[in-house]
Amino acid sequence: MVDITVRGAGIFGLSIAWECVRRGAAVTLIDPSGPGAGSSGGLVGALAPHVPENWNAKKAFQLDSLLMAETFWRGVAEISGRSPGYLRSGRLQPIPNAAALARAHQRADTAKTLWQGRAVWEIVPQDKTDWSPQSPTGWLIHDSLSALLHPRQAVGALATALARHGVTVEQEAPDRGKVLWATGITGLAALSAGRSRAMGTGVKGQAALLRHDAGGAPQLFVDGVHIIPHQDGTVAIGSTSENNYAAPDTTDGQLDDVITKARAAVPVLAQAPVIDRWAGIRPRARSRAPMLGKWPERPGHFIANGGFKIGFGMAPKIALVMADLLLEDLNNIPDSFDVAASF
Ligand SMILES: Cc1cc2nc3c(=O)[nH]c(=O)nc-3n(C[C@H](O)[C@H](O)[C@H](O)COP(=O)(O)OP(=O)(O)OC[C@H]3O[C@@H](n4cnc5c(N)ncnc54)[C@H](O)[C@@H]3O)c2cc1C
Repeated sequence: MVDITVRGAGIFGLSIAWECVRRGAAVTLIDPSGPGAGSSGGLVGALAPHVPENWNAKKAFQLDSLLMAETFWRGVAEISGRSPGYLRSGRLQPIPNAAALARAHQRADTAKTLWQGRAVWEIVPQDKTDWSPQSPTGWLIHDSLSALLHPRQAVGALATALARHGVTVEQEAPDRGKVLWATGITGLAALSAGRSRAMGTGVKGQAALLRHDAGGAPQLFVDGVHIIPHQDGTVAIGSTSENNYAAPDTTDGQLDDVITKARAAVPVLAQAPVIDRWAGIRPRARSRAPMLGKWPERPGHFIANGGFKIGFGMAPKIALVMADLLLEDLNNIPDSFDVAASF
């Protein structure tokens, strides 16, 4: 049995710990602040693809991960007895003008090849239902690859699934075996210390939760705003993207602007009360891609960081490739994600 110590109980640390436990490893999981204390303790939970064109390793990895997500989260739900709030309910996006409509048609074609027939990207007419966003052209992009989950519920379900296997989140413990650092922005700051260039940075995001039941409807992406109909009778709205900020965990008028945009796009939300406001710092690696692999300067230590805006969507496949590396010394990490490329 391989001993693994995972430091950090955000979505990366929890998912990797879960995959290692499933494969029979003895895992120690440490987070002084508890599960979901960092960027993973939020509200939004869009599992949405990059556009199907200009294919690259990041998009291919993301496609695999989004396609794996249903099985991954079903397994977590079965063992934990808790719902992560996962549903592959697709996404609708308004099409603002003729040029965007032409691009959308081209992407519908490229999606057929790039998504291997496992999901569609198609153009559909705006309809008269109250969940169909206003679209200047009268047309919407619908994709059937996008899914959603509830980040806090997903983190809670993973922590419970791990606990059912005897792995609880400890505040501190000695390292046992190989050590994985999945410590988000704290980890990026530690990696950057003493270097001429930062290895990554934090990008603040603010999000809100509204009381409105649209569970089962597709998520919407309108004018840069995610509108996520969770299955518990709430709708998440997000997010701001702030490179400069005074406080990491406060919300302000920038979030009000995002809420206003969402209410304008979907009038049925106009009177929906705001029941939560939340801010977090996304860990962004210098490459903007996930940063995965062996820590070059510290034998026996490993890194999983840089989830940035898509950490939840990437987590199932990241768990897989990191467990391959930790347990079997198999490197299935795309070169552009490899930690070594950032050093
Ligand atoms: C507003 C907002 C909206 C977002 N929306 C989405 C979305 O819709 N879809 C999506 O896929 N992603 C989204 N993201 C991004 C996603 O939340 C992140 O990519 C993801 O949470 C990163 O996970 P992580 O485990 O790497 O980091 P974190 O969740 O930050 O976890 C790091 C953990 O490490 C712990 N830690 C720190 N130092 C130590 C130490 N020395 N020892 C042990 N533990 C330590 C911390 O307490 C923390 O719990 C959003 C982020 C924000 C802020």
